[in-house]
Amino acid sequence: MSLISGFEHIVRENEPLAPYTRLNIGGVAEYFAEPTTKDELVSLVKRFAENEVPIRLMGSGTNLLISTQGIAGLVLHLSAPAFGQIDVEGDTMAVGGGAKLSHFVASAVREGLTGPQHLVGITGTVGGALHSNTSAVGFDIGSWVQSAEVLNRSGELVTHEKENMSFSYRQSSLSELAILSATFKFDSESAEALTKQMQKLWIVRRAAQPAADVRAAYVFKDHRGDSASSLIDQAGLKGTRVGEVEVCDRDPNFFIAHDGATADDFLRLIELVQTRVRDQHEVELQTSIGIW
Ligand SMILES: Cc1cc2nc3c(=O)[nH]c(=O)nc-3n(C[C@H](O)[C@H](O)[C@H](O)COP(=O)(O)OP(=O)(O)OC[C@H]3O[C@@H](n4cnc5c(N)ncnc54)[C@H](O)[C@@H]3O)c2cc1C
Repeated sequence: MSLISGFEHIVRENEPLAPYTRLNIGGVAEYFAEPTTKDELVSLVKRFAENEVPIRLMGSGTNLLISTQGIAGLVLHLSAPAFGQIDVEGDTMAVGGGAKLSHFVASAVREGLTGPQHLVGITGTVGGALHSNTSAVGFDIGSWVQSAEVLNRSGELVTHEKENMSFSYRQSSLSELAILSATFKFDSESAEALTKQMQKLWIVRRAAQPAADVRAAYVFKDHRGDSASSLIDQAGLKGTRVGEVEVCDRDPNFFIAHDGATADDFLRLIELVQTRVRDQHEVELQTSIGIW
């Protein structure tokens, strides 16, 4: 029996990953799967786990750098509608890990639930945002979570309650293979007031970050209260380029990939920026982007 027998309808071999990422960089996945149901996902993960094949999960590829050599093993993509559900009941939302962050924000605002409007304009999935505890202007997604259903690397489903999870700056305790869904609880406010607030925040964010069609990634974590952007700016690195990858002028914590950019250009620019910031500020910048 072949590794993918019975799963041929959802698994593709040697699938180019670049088109699934915002940077549009990188090689192929040995196996790439888009399961259509939770049961299918669980069976697939069990099959690959039993055969000791490495498995990774990709959200919407907003903050991933894929190596030119590609990825050995299985890459999962929760693009099916079964993983993108959003249900609102009173002050509680149940959201699939594959749901777009923008849909989560819009649904909360429409229902008069306050908090998520602060995350307007940040791209990604809810699962990806929970994985790295996406935050903006002092509000982080982890602070509203009540429970999360995850799938571990052996293919077992586990539910974590609020008291068993922790969220801190750009990280969470949800380190299993896949965050499948989560429930959130919010305070209520008028939908009209929230819409106005969201629109204002969106205008500010749109002016501060690269446009949606630009191949950009958010590269470093802030360092103990010092923003990575100002550390890079003070080191005089705005506009610095390696090959076809450039430090963004508008906000130097974004790197922009131009036509012909490679993962190696990107990695060399990360190293150059880390070295200059270390020399100037004695600070070791840690990456926020996922490097595969
Ligand atoms: C222009 C721009 C602006 C940004 N602004 C902000 C900001 O203001 N604040 C902020 O915090 N971040 C910001 N980010 C980063 C953003 O939070 C992440 O890009 C996003 O949350 C990642 O979601 P994703 O679905 O695209 O994950 P991917 O990029 O696909 O994956 C990133 C990591 O998350 C993991 N992952 C993804 N989905 C799941 C899941 N369901 N279960 C388990 N693990 C998963 C992947 O395995 C990978 O390790 C910005 C990024 C960009 C490009």
